[in-house]
Parts: sequence; structure tokens; C-alpha cells
Amino acid sequence: MFSNSLIELDRAHLIHPVASYRSHENLGVRVLTSACGATVTDANGKQLIDGFAGLWCVNAGYGHDSIVEAAAKQMRELPYATAYFGLGSEPAIRLASELADRAPGDLNHVYFTLGGSDAVDSTIRFIRYYWNARGRPGKDQFISIEQGYHGSSTVGAGLTALPAFHAGFGLPFDWQHKIPSHYAYRNPVGTDPEAIIAASIAALNEKIEELGGADRVAAFYAEPIQGSGGVLVPPRGWMKAMRAVCRELDILFVADEVITGFGRTGPLFACSEDDIVPDLLTVAKGLTSGYVPMGALFMSEHVYQTIADGAGASAVGHGYTYSAHPVSAAVGLEVLRLYEAGLLENGRKAGARLMAGLESLKDHPLVGDVRGRGMLAAIELVVDKERKTPLPAAAEPARRIFDRAWSNGLVIRAFANGVLGYAPPLCCTESDIDAIVERTRRTLDETLADTDVRRAPVA
Ligand code: PLP
Repeated sequence: MFSNSLIELDRAHLIHPVASYRSHENLGVRVLTSACGATVTDANGKQLIDGFAGLWCVNAGYGHDSIVEAAAKQMRELPYATAYFGLGSEPAIRLASELADRAPGDLNHVYFTLGGSDAVDSTIRFIRYYWNARGRPGKDQFISIEQGYHGSSTVGAGLTALPAFHAGFGLPFDWQHKIPSHYAYRNPVGTDPEAIIAASIAALNEKIEELGGADRVAAFYAEPIQGSGGVLVPPRGWMKAMRAVCRELDILFVADEVITGFGRTGPLFACSEDDIVPDLLTVAKGLTSGYVPMGALFMSEHVYQTIADGAGASAVGHGYTYSAHPVSAAVGLEVLRLYEAGLLENGRKAGARLMAGLESLKDHPLVGDVRGRGMLAAIELVVDKERKTPLPAAAEPARRIFDRAWSNGLVIRAFANGVLGYAPPLCCTESDIDAIVERTRRTLDETLADTDVRRAPVA
């Protein structure tokens, strides 16, 4: 049995991200000790299928010796090399080149960060620099989407549109604006794809007008699928339509692929499926499959050349000690090799099986909506399918459902509003996927039997 002293040490010293500190102190930590394939093991020896790939990041799955070897080899040879002072390392240069070869269109220039938040944060800095270099400093307003998530940096969290990331932090800034989400299940215009796309185009145009016209707007940010907002999948053609509005009005279009990148929805980049080339694109998570931290942003040719010309002989003053870290880059190269040696293919098959399995849960009394693409999916629970009544928040459905799924040997993301998120590793076998679906059904049956969770809120 797992020693209680670790729980005490955690309680006393480790501050957990995006947590109620008081609830966490009461509940205590759950410690994971090992993992292999799509299975994680906790400190009590309990084995669970990781239906969320850590934090939608361990796309390759756990326990790849070749990734460990790539990191160890690089650590032995050259554990660190700065990319400042005109220096560099072979893995970082090779990874940038391999990624640029595969990225959509002319996204040829790669800037490595430590994760997704600083990749997004860096885009904001570069975009301001870009418009200044073009002699248009008045283009300084940024637009993103309700239910969007763009990380947790001081500035980037203002583009994020989840209340917990703003309340008490003095966010968003007055230059950060939102338009409504395409959220099909609860969209006032209904579920018709054309109507949803038209409503988003109108909302973006209205917002631009409200801000004083396109001369004021620097950039628009979109996730190909809104992840942390509850896996909200736009209709096919939505990204293309929004990209067209931005191109027409000379507003930069940023695709945030921190979740959707690296096989999560099928291909390496979801933008390829959407048939668009954004001006900038951000990635992280699957880039190194979570084995070590790394993020990146891609700049298209015109963004890079404008910044480079604008700076001339001066330094573009943006960088990190760990930019282009050689160990992370070595891991990134090996992970990329594994994706292309079969993991993307396996993920596509497993994704189709996952979606079919989750669709089969639609007959369950609690399941209001099933949505997703590839290995990125969600089911939205309701107490009344007709009225789409959410589970009562007071009953803390997320915590209860997460706990039940855990007891059933499944890790999922349970969002506060009763949405269950799925992002399993791409290495999942057919039996892993079937177990995810079967354990979900068991969890839903137990939730249905829990009268507190089922009781509709008093109107
Ligand atoms: N952008 C998106 C779309 C994300 O989903 C996330 C994290 O989930 C981020 C940015 C921030 O990435 P990180 O947590 O690596 O800082």
C-alpha cells in the first residue's frame, strides 16, 4: 500500500496547476508511478487506461525505449546548447527543418519554446512586432473565441476564454476580445453547419467593426477543435471561412494546434485537413509526446521576412534560455519518426473505433451529445435530453464522474459542466479502445444511479 507521507508532503509543498488549493488539500494527491502503452499504474498498483494521454499530450503512448535512448544519447553528447549568440545544435536544426517540410504551405520558419503557453505568448509579441515593422502600430487589437483556450501566460491567458483563467487575475486586457463559439450542441442558430459558419463570419465582422475596422485588428486566434472549452468541433469549412475573412481584411490568422497537432485528429496538422495555411501556427504536447517539455510556433514566409526586414541589423528581443533545447529536439525527432512509422496510421484506425464506440453510448439516458474527430472526442452529459439540461453543478459532477471512472480503471477528463473528454494515446489497441467505451458505460450507469448528480437544478 502506498505510503501516506507522500500525500502529506504534496499537501504541504506542491502547488498544483488549475486546482482548488483547498479541495486538493482535503482530497490529497493521487500518485502515478509507471506507465506502458496506454496504461498507467498508480502508487497502489492499480492499472488504468489513460483515456486522456496525460493532458492530451502523450500521443505516442508510454514506454518507448527509442525515445528514452534519443534523450539519453543527446544528454551524454551535449545536454545543453544555447541558440543565442548565433549558436545551435544539430537536433534543433534538424527538427526545425523536418517540421517545416511537413507543415502546411509556407510555414517555413520555426521558433521553439518550452510549451504551448509561451508559444502563444510569443505569437502575440511577434505579431505586435510585425505590424510595427509594417508601419501599422494601430493594428493592436486581438480577437479570439469564447470557450477557447490559448494557455496560461499572463498575456496569453487573456486570449483564453475560460472564466477561471481571468477571475482574480485582472484579465482579459482591454485589447483582447472574443466572439461566440461555433459550439454546435448549444448554438442559438441551431446545428446546421452553414448557419453556424455564417453566424461566426458575421460575429467576426461585427467585432472588427466594433473595434474601429480592420485597421485596428492585429490577429484572430482559433483552435481547429476547441479543446479545453469541451472538445467543440466546428463544421467542416469553418476554419476555411474564418481564414478567408482574415485574409480579405489583412488580419493575421493564428491556428493554435497545441492539442490538435501531431496526429490527434488524424494528420500531423489539423490545418492540412481543413485545407488552410494560417499566418502563424502553434504546437506543443504531441511535439515531444510529453516525454520532455517543448512547444513551437511556425511563421509563414511573409511574417518572418517582415520581422527580419523590420529588425534589420538589430536583435529581435525575444528568447528563452531553453529555446531550441537539444534534448527536447532529439526527443521531437524520434517522436516524429515513430508517428510516421505507424503511430499516425494506428491512431486513425483507433480514432474511428473510438468515435463509433462513443456514438454507441448515445442510447444512454445521460448522453446528450457525442462529438469529436480522430482521437479527440467528448460526450456531453445532460439530465434531460429534450431540454439539454446540464448536470447540476452543485453536485460536483466532474469530481464524482472522474472518481467513478478511476475506480473503473479509466482516466478521462471530466469538465465541470458534465462534459467528458477523451484523447487517448495513438498507440491504443482495439481492446484498449473497447475498454475505454465499456468502462465509460459502466461509469455512466453508476452516475445515473446517483440521485444527487441526476437531480435537475431547481429553476
Ligand atoms: N493552446 C492550446 C490550444 C492548449 O490546449 C494549451 C494547453 O492545453 C495551450 C495552448 C497551453 O499549452 P501549455 O499547457 O503547454 O502551456
